[in-house]
Amino acid sequence: MGSAVIGLTLVLLYLQSGLQDRLHVVQEDFMPHWQTAQRLQGDAQSVRAKASQLTLAFTLGELLSMREELDDQIAALEASLQAVVARMADADLARNLVVAASDFRRVANELAEAVQFRVTSAAGATVEQMNRNRRRERDLAHLMGDHSVRLASYSSILAADIDSAFAEYRRNLLLRLWLQGCFIGATGVLIGVLIWQQFRLLDHRLIRRIKALERDMAKTSLDQTLLAHRAKTDEIDAMRDELAGLLNRLTDQNAELRRLATTDSLTGLVNRRRLIEHLEQEVYRARRYGAAFSLMLFDIDHFKRINDGWGHAVGDQVLREVARNILHVLRKTDLAGRYGGEEFLVLSPGTDLAEATALARRLNHQLSQQVITLESGSSLPVVTVSVGVATLAPDESGEELIQRADQALYRAKEEGRNRVEAAIFSTDAVLQKLEQEAIY
Ligand code: GH3
Ligand code: MG
Ligand code: MG
Repeated sequence: MGSAVIGLTLVLLYLQSGLQDRLHVVQEDFMPHWQTAQRLQGDAQSVRAKASQLTLAFTLGELLSMREELDDQIAALEASLQAVVARMADADLARNLVVAASDFRRVANELAEAVQFRVTSAAGATVEQMNRNRRRERDLAHLMGDHSVRLASYSSILAADIDSAFAEYRRNLLLRLWLQGCFIGATGVLIGVLIWQQFRLLDHRLIRRIKALERDMAKTSLDQTLLAHRAKTDEIDAMRDELAGLLNRLTDQNAELRRLATTDSLTGLVNRRRLIEHLEQEVYRARRYGAAFSLMLFDIDHFKRINDGWGHAVGDQVLREVARNILHVLRKTDLAGRYGGEEFLVLSPGTDLAEATALARRLNHQLSQQVITLESGSSLPVVTVSVGVATLAPDESGEELIQRADQALYRAKEEGRNRVEAAIFSTDAVLQKLEQEAIY
């Protein structure tokens, strides 16, 4: 396509230079030639008119001034003739023109002499002589008229010849102009197509890909399509790969940050913040689907004594052991986390109070059976926990549910520790709450 445009442009330039040459010829050659031929025609007419006046002269003075004017006219005619003849292709016509002009001049001179004889010898000449001179004047005037007609007709033939040659040339010129116009149009169309093609190429190869890259860059997580392996062909592909790598690292770092933000570093369980988030979600879900939901609040009994008696590091080890045991007993759907210093919270979706209490008892029992051995080899006294269990009541919030579990836990501590207490839902409390809501 590009080479076609270059080819067309070269042809166009060639045509343009040819056209300019031809216009130059018209300007420099045809036009002056045609103008001289026109002038020659005009000069022939005026020389004829002047010459015919010669016979009207009655005095020598009149005759002399008429001759002078006639001579000027003839000189102008001969100058035009010379200019035309020098450039004429038709040799016969040129010769005829020259002969007609010299015949005319000769007869004009003879006529002038006859007129002069009549004017200057009018008194001394006989009637016979005068009559003969008059006849001669008349014949010469006729002859001069004939020569001038000949001259005028030759010059009009010449002008017609130039005209027809010019018409031919003009046709040729117009054809070239038309051809050139067609070429300009075709070149324009080709250039338009070329520009359109270039734009499409640019759009597909660069603009769209850069926009896609821009969209990818706006993402904060990694899209799998970005990872799809593609051949690296240019800088944009390289940038895309860099971006995929960057997003990959960013996604990993985000996940790690999220893990750190929701994990308790000592036990590896989820922390209080994550527990609360999850609790809100589960309360919403249980209410929406009318499912049971329970939670268990664990508190290690007399933990302070462990810290005081064995040291803080041992206390930490106990916390880790209890966490491990809780995880061991729990089901996959449960979520256990560290709720406070030595308090753990377990969220059990789809579990009613009886099931949750049974689960808490199992855990309580298991913990009371375990023997914690220290690095030094010595064993710790048995560690027990007290548990408060509560099941979500209608229209109860997560916070209220925890409060009830905490009250049950308090009761467990009060009742002597190492036991499980279930929070019984009091309808009186519900009625009280409803009344309060109605008042305010
Ligand atoms: P109760 O049976 O009534 O629960 O008695 P307790 O001693 O367990 O309760 P208390 O609230 O008096 O003591 C809790 C202790 O837990 C106090 C605090 O120093 C300790 N503790 C809190 N967080 C940590 C921790 O991360 N590591 C260790 N080693 N001890 C902790
Ligand atoms: Mg406590
Ligand atoms: Mg305690």
